[in-house]
Amino acid sequence: MKDFFKMKRIAMQMMTHTDWEIYFSPGRVNLIGEHIDYNGGLVMPCSLDLGIMGAFHLRSDRIIRCYSHEYSTVDLYEFSLDDLHPKNHWTDYVKGIVKAFSSTIVYGFDLAIMSHLPSGAGLSSSASLELLVATYINDQYACGMSPLNLALISQQVENEFIGVQCGIMDQFAVAMGQKDKAILLNTHTLSYEMVSADFKEYQILIANTSKSRTLAGSIYNERRQECDTILHRLQETMSIQSLCELSLSQLDDCHRLISEEMLFRRLRHVVSEHHRTIESSLALNKQDMKTFGQLLSLSHESLTKDYEVSCIELDTMVNALLKAGAIGARMTGAGFGGCAIALVLSSQISTIVQEVKAAYIQATHLQPEFYVATIGDGTRKIHFSIQDALSSLLDYGIKALLFDACELVYRRNSLLHYFHLTNYEKKPVIPMELDDILDNLVEYARMNHLLLDDSFIGEENFKADVMNLLCETPKDIIQRFNKAYQQSPIHATNFLYTYSKNAHYIQTKNIAKNISWSYPHDYGDFQITINMSKPEKDPMMIKMLREVEESTYPQCQLCVENEGFGGTTTRESRRNMRIVPLMLQNEQWFFQYSPYSYFEEHAIVLRNEHTPMIIQGQTFLKLIDFVRLFPHYFVGSNADFPIVGGSILTHEHFQCGRAKMPIEDASKQFVFQIHNVDVYRLKWPLSTIRLVSKDEKAIAAMACIFLQKWQKYENLGLNIINYPVLHNTITPICRFKEDEWIIDLILRNNVTTKAFPMGVFHPHPQLHHIKKENIGLIEAMGIAILPPRLKRELDLIQTVIFNQTTVVDHPELEKHASWIRELQKQSDVNLKVEVGKKFVEVLEDAGVFKQDFVGQQAFIEFIRTCQ
Ligand SMILES: [Zn+2]
Repeated sequence: MKDFFKMKRIAMQMMTHTDWEIYFSPGRVNLIGEHIDYNGGLVMPCSLDLGIMGAFHLRSDRIIRCYSHEYSTVDLYEFSLDDLHPKNHWTDYVKGIVKAFSSTIVYGFDLAIMSHLPSGAGLSSSASLELLVATYINDQYACGMSPLNLALISQQVENEFIGVQCGIMDQFAVAMGQKDKAILLNTHTLSYEMVSADFKEYQILIANTSKSRTLAGSIYNERRQECDTILHRLQETMSIQSLCELSLSQLDDCHRLISEEMLFRRLRHVVSEHHRTIESSLALNKQDMKTFGQLLSLSHESLTKDYEVSCIELDTMVNALLKAGAIGARMTGAGFGGCAIALVLSSQISTIVQEVKAAYIQATHLQPEFYVATIGDGTRKIHFSIQDALSSLLDYGIKALLFDACELVYRRNSLLHYFHLTNYEKKPVIPMELDDILDNLVEYARMNHLLLDDSFIGEENFKADVMNLLCETPKDIIQRFNKAYQQSPIHATNFLYTYSKNAHYIQTKNIAKNISWSYPHDYGDFQITINMSKPEKDPMMIKMLREVEESTYPQCQLCVENEGFGGTTTRESRRNMRIVPLMLQNEQWFFQYSPYSYFEEHAIVLRNEHTPMIIQGQTFLKLIDFVRLFPHYFVGSNADFPIVGGSILTHEHFQCGRAKMPIEDASKQFVFQIHNVDVYRLKWPLSTIRLVSKDEKAIAAMACIFLQKWQKYENLGLNIINYPVLHNTITPICRFKEDEWIIDLILRNNVTTKAFPMGVFHPHPQLHHIKKENIGLIEAMGIAILPPRLKRELDLIQTVIFNQTTVVDHPELEKHASWIRELQKQSDVNLKVEVGKKFVEVLEDAGVFKQDFVGQQAFIEFIRTCQ
């Protein structure tokens, strides 16, 4: 159902009719049983939920028109039912099937396809397309053929019309596949058995090596020949029809008959792989994932060492997958390139992909691709409507506790009204992921002119609007929050955090696109994140944004007036955001989650009034008040001056969360104790004083003294200029751990000079290619948030380092040129480590007391003045 309405819209756009029938045909992957099908052995493929979608419209003439969304040409490819010859074009698969049915077909049709299968990766896009067309024709002319018949016809087309001598496995798996089942298949007798493929907490990860399988054909023939030789030799003394009739225990006897080491290894693979395939089906039926994983890895070893059909790229991929935490991995397909598969914990997929990708590129200089395989049904017609989408959404809303089931009718009618529908058809619910439902609703709205703004923001705002129709009112949310708070503060934040995620306000799936890694250093373990969840704003957008921002309501993104705000062409909707009130130092404040989730349970605390950021004695008391309410959260404030503050200085606010930030683990050096407050100097790139005390009044008073002393401090020798206007301020952070209050005071100074017009204690120009924005609270605590452009640029830099391309070919790399020259001098470059190093330099630039003897002496002296 994913992209159902998108498919319809694309078909309509290309070929004006409005009535389309949508079909889906899956790709397939072979789980185990490799190179034994021609030895009478079993294979175990499954059909994927990745595949090809097709929109068909029956014509009244004998013309067939085809359009592929992937090849993104605007051209329609046209041919007649009366002229069916292969033209070495993707439409040959359509033609071949049409020809196979030529005695039945009367009229032509229009076909638009959209594929999620990477071509050339060995996931069988050709069988998928053949079955797509065959199934449509079978339905259209009521031919009454079974899926197995259609698979056989498709194989024949592939053999005779396309000219590829393939077996039946691909077409069989595509046509006969079942959700969460693998097919244990004998390709000669076509006898098969469905095997449970519920991988529990694991999933199959498909990794495309991007290595083309050029050798596969000739080696395949060579191996078949070798197997024939072995069989003939054995048949002299044994009565067998195929090699897979042999048991493992018979191998030793065979060794005497097959004395050549190489031929014996071939035989050992065939017999052991057949055994492993049967063992795998037993393990899967018992849901014994560990054993299944081991069998996958053993299969790979056998294919590499005994059968010799792997290659360096497949071996590198399999080893990287296992090293990153897969519990089993192997090459799949004929070998010499194509894909590997791995069994991995669902919760670890994104980290494994990142790690494997980096290791694979490093070793092979090829760009790999990864797909999470969910096992879906075989080729079928998709019955789906706006009513289905809305039913799925309502079902999701109830299950995610967005609203109470007693409100179902009211919520349904709200949705129907919003989509200009007056009728409701009760239908069984189709379970779908929220993002897929919302994408479908956006496309439906686009087709029906309900989407007022076609841009990315317009789509997002539309989704927020729809979700808001399921969400409870602010009053109900506050009541639920307070009720949970009576149980414990953790219950309360868990409630709002979960609600914010379920309401699609925090977009978990989108945030998962971020690329994160940790960079260990003497200071602590820094976290580097490339933010891929927000699209980059183009310069026109920024210009528009400025114009709108000048005159707008709400006054800023942090004003309480954002709750329920519908968004504009340049501003994100906050329809589905909910916030709760709280009191800090007798002032009205509010608490909400950040939609960007830069760390675990990242939230914002904002003041009722739109008044500027200010760091003063009261700030520490407010931070302490907040932590007293939510002792499991840290809270910090950005500094109150430009350059060293965050992006919003006009509205007093804090940021908080449940995450353990890198700064917490920084090592500390005791300086003195006074009034029950321990004062430490942190080993941290930004000059940071840590106060620790059991006494909240004493620690707040001490923080106040440090602020006042710092506001008066000046050291021209160290460029800490604090005159004629105040340049010194503080980024404070407060938390409560093991019965102790901890306040970190990060000393900041925002002076600019002729030499450093952007700030003396700001990333210096030679680091701007990585980071030139302000070092705000989150960065100062050790988490780098880097722009999405960096992902693209780092990928390119990798290719430049490997001499596959040059800086001159990529103007966007110009800013990195001198860095690249430095990297090229190194023998072994790990770009993630290199970016980590740069981030530390960025933070060191923002430190007021430098990390040398003079700097740290002056820092200690300053701390002592507060004694
Ligand atoms: Zn504001």
